[in-house]
This record gives sequence, C-alpha cells and structure tokens, in this order.
Amino acid sequence: MAAVDWEALAAQARAAAARAYAPYSRFTVGAALLGEDGRVYVGCNVENASYGLCLCAERNALFHAVACGCRAFRALAIAAPKVSPPCGACRQALAEFCGPTLEVAMVSLGPGGESVRAFLGDLFPNPFAC
Ligand code: ZN
Repeated sequence: MAAVDWEALAAQARAAAARAYAPYSRFTVGAALLGEDGRVYVGCNVENASYGLCLCAERNALFHAVACGCRAFRALAIAAPKVSPPCGACRQALAEFCGPTLEVAMVSLGPGGESVRAFLGDLFPNPFAC
C-alpha cells in the first residue's frame, strides 16, 4: 500500500475548514480521513444556535465515511486555527472504527502551517468499550 500523502490530506482538511459553519466560535475546523478504500472523506465543524447540536469536523468526516460504506481508515488530518487534537468525544468515536495506530496530523491554518503528528493510541489510550 502506498505511503500516506500527508500534504494532500492536509490540503483537503484545509479546504474543508474553509467550508466550516462556525458563526459562534469562529473556530473553523476541517478534517480529512483517508479510508482503506483509498478515498478521502472530509468533514467540517457545523455549529448551531442550539449549541448542543454542534458537530465537530472529525465526527462529521467519520460519519460521512461510514455513510459511504467505509469503516476502516489509514490516516486523519485535522486543520484548525491552531494545532488542535480531536476533542474527547471525537477520540471515542474514532476509537470505535480505528485502532491505536491510526496516525493523526494536526495542522495549523495559521501562517507557517505548523503540523504535529500523533497516534490515536497516544491521544486516547483507554477508549470505552462494552
Ligand atoms: Zn470533536
């Protein structure tokens, strides 16, 4: 299997962030999830006046992939105004479908485009399972 093209994946996450609907926080986030099927599933955060209905970019991308029939993943890129790891809820949702070796690139939308990579297992070592 070909190596992950992190630059291309980050570019898709940045493009998704540009489509985020974040009028309340103004914290735009995009996610690009590379499926084992070779397709990239993107998501952006979508906020709502009823704050509890807001959805993170990472879960938006994950649920998009599942809805398209993909349940196995190779890599995730997240683009946000600063280097930002997934929130706890997204880590748990990712752990449902991704093993601890899923590599996550956290990319800043700011000048310089700082990027940090980590494994899901390091970000979230003890997911809930029933
Ligand atoms: Zn989240």
